[in-house]
Amino acid sequence: MNDGQLYGLRSRQLVLEQGVVAGVVLWQNEKIIDVLAYGETLPENVELIDVGNNAVMPGLVDTHVHVNEPGRTEWEGFNTATRAAAAGGITTLVDMPLNCDPVTTSVAALKEKIDTLDGQLWVDCGFWGGAIPGNMDELDDLVRAGVLGVKSFTIDSGLEEFPPVSEEHLRQALSILADHQVPYLIHAELDKGDTPPAKITDKYQTFLDSRPKRWENDAIQLMIGLLEELQSEGKKGLVHIVHLSSADAIEAISHAREKGLGLTTETCPHYLTLFSENIPDGKTLFKCCPPIREDHNRQQLWQGLKDGHIDFIVSDHSPCTPQLKHIDTGDLDAAWGGISSLQFGLSLIWSESEKYGFGLHHIAKWMCTEPAAFAGLGDCKGKIEKGYDADLIVFDGDEEYTIQKEHILFRHKMTPYEGRKVRGRVKRSYLRGQVILDSPVGKEVTFCEKSTGRPILKKR
Ligand SMILES: [Zn+2]
Repeated sequence: MNDGQLYGLRSRQLVLEQGVVAGVVLWQNEKIIDVLAYGETLPENVELIDVGNNAVMPGLVDTHVHVNEPGRTEWEGFNTATRAAAAGGITTLVDMPLNCDPVTTSVAALKEKIDTLDGQLWVDCGFWGGAIPGNMDELDDLVRAGVLGVKSFTIDSGLEEFPPVSEEHLRQALSILADHQVPYLIHAELDKGDTPPAKITDKYQTFLDSRPKRWENDAIQLMIGLLEELQSEGKKGLVHIVHLSSADAIEAISHAREKGLGLTTETCPHYLTLFSENIPDGKTLFKCCPPIREDHNRQQLWQGLKDGHIDFIVSDHSPCTPQLKHIDTGDLDAAWGGISSLQFGLSLIWSESEKYGFGLHHIAKWMCTEPAAFAGLGDCKGKIEKGYDADLIVFDGDEEYTIQKEHILFRHKMTPYEGRKVRGRVKRSYLRGQVILDSPVGKEVTFCEKSTGRPILKKR
């Protein structure tokens, strides 16, 4: 909003990096210009809203979203995904290079994706590229074209056009990306061929057994080895482990970081709020890779966050059609793997984190500040601080609600969280100073008239 007007939000719970304080955030022309103490004299002509005890937080930055457009818009799309994001308090998301068609493994595919965005972006959106066996020569151009980093799989991705890479490819891509100092995102599961083939039935345990922790641990170990190799050549690679589920890998990750290796990790609301002992059999909505594991493992992931070994939390929103999810048959083996949750991450994590004694400033670190920094947006997104984009949300941390189908704004009204009681609801979202979503208690959610989100391309 570039109208020159000075705006402000006053709250008893302003969520800053150093903690939650009573204060006022002021912005003008899209940018935060000041943060004042609660009682401090305000500048003249400020248009101020006092939100009382509702919290004011930075907008969330979700760096792991499968929007699937172009090409698989029947699974999801930019319009539905970014509206759901805004309702969940996410003001910046980063789109994964699959499961769109074409997959984002070339400059041409990135351009094709950007061409579909017009009028569809309700929040700001960056893009990851993909590294596959056939496109090592293209990575340099892809990064120059503006992707924020590049992703690979060490195991079958489920998509023929996005095959896994070999150790030699990993080594090659890591070195190319190190030259640009952008992260190399790894879906880290590695089947060394020593796991007896598992028969997946409708029992969740059989699916869990089919993808052991060892696969994650082995893939992470491989990446640590490659980082060390590069370090010995005097180069610093940046490896990021997406959606960590195996808590057993935390120790290796923390050792690698102590040695100064560029290794970061994320986990997701489903690994932090769901656990295998409670997953009903034949419920394909809970299927994702790596799988949701035991409660004990879940507790260790929380500890990993607390200790700072896991850097942040992102959705890994990965929807598909109800047919591909085999909702009716409950066929766990055939069902597409992926959790639909985009809109509910903040409520889920806030509800759960209370049991561990975390405050909103911890949540802001894990869901705003850290993911923004990881995506290279640490100077403009993810913090309430002078000079940052006025991406803000008003969050009622006390309101309780039960997640229901009619709340869902992403394309397919299905999520494993349906029926779950949560605490904390986003009441308003601002994107660069403008209200993009209003959600008053007991009333319909409303959006601003026209979408105002922008594509984020890394400047080179
Ligand atoms: Zn994913």
